[in-house]
Amino acid sequence: MNTKLSKEKIECLSQIAKNRVLYFESLTSTFDKIREYELSHGLTVVCSAQTQGSGRLGRKWESAEGGVYFTYCIAPPFKVPITSITPVCASAVHKALSKYVDCSVKWPNDIVCGGKKICGILTRNIVSDGEIKAVLVGVGINVNNDSFPKELPHATALKKLLSKSLDENEVFEKVLTDIVCMYNDIPYPKTLQYYKDNCINLGKEVTIHFSDGKGDVLGVCTNILEDGSMDVQTSQGTINVHSGEVSVKGIYEEKE
Ligand code: ADP
Repeated sequence: MNTKLSKEKIECLSQIAKNRVLYFESLTSTFDKIREYELSHGLTVVCSAQTQGSGRLGRKWESAEGGVYFTYCIAPPFKVPITSITPVCASAVHKALSKYVDCSVKWPNDIVCGGKKICGILTRNIVSDGEIKAVLVGVGINVNNDSFPKELPHATALKKLLSKSLDENEVFEKVLTDIVCMYNDIPYPKTLQYYKDNCINLGKEVTIHFSDGKGDVLGVCTNILEDGSMDVQTSQGTINVHSGEVSVKGIYEEKE
């Protein structure tokens, strides 16, 4: 069976997205490509490999062949507060990937399985004239990737976990379907509860690493709030952290 993303199969999925779904073999990034189009709701750009995939805080997202990389456009009127789009999409991607493996959400935007990362989600706001014109949801899923660079010991792929190749078209279709459904049809309180039920950090010890050089703070994650931020109880009281400011350590280390 050919498991690779196919232009015909991918571009047939426009009914699910309620807009065009465009496939490209290789791109700098699906984020760069989608910016060439008018950003209407549901527009989706998918590819098989990216040369400049990115993560949070300027990090790189390894995007070799075998993975599924896409950007989905959410345009106004927004159905949930902008800050809730990351948890909604992370919940949806989790729901879809749970059909394959037993996985969790790692706050704020990763899907992990057995202590390793199988997927990253990155939402970016497109602002013009002081208004948010669109939120671009970038998703990178390690599906049939055969290997990762040695600097990424905590990366793994569905193929490795299941000991078989998966149809990349089918994985994409499931993920897209769940994003569309969770964003459009499921009230946010329910989605937030879903996020909390599947968030690996909740109730666990976390180390907050402040990217502005303020150092590390140890605490316990006590809540995920409606805006997707996390409460961490520390010896200096409860700190509320937002995704742009910190990275959370402790998940990968604990499984080793
Ligand atoms: P964080 O892990 O702090 O949430 P991001 O969500 O922005 O950070 O993801 C970027 C990080 O993920 C990179 O710095 C790298 O450690 C790791 N990474 C990069 N590419 C992959 C990949 N394909 N699979 C798993 N992990 C990856």
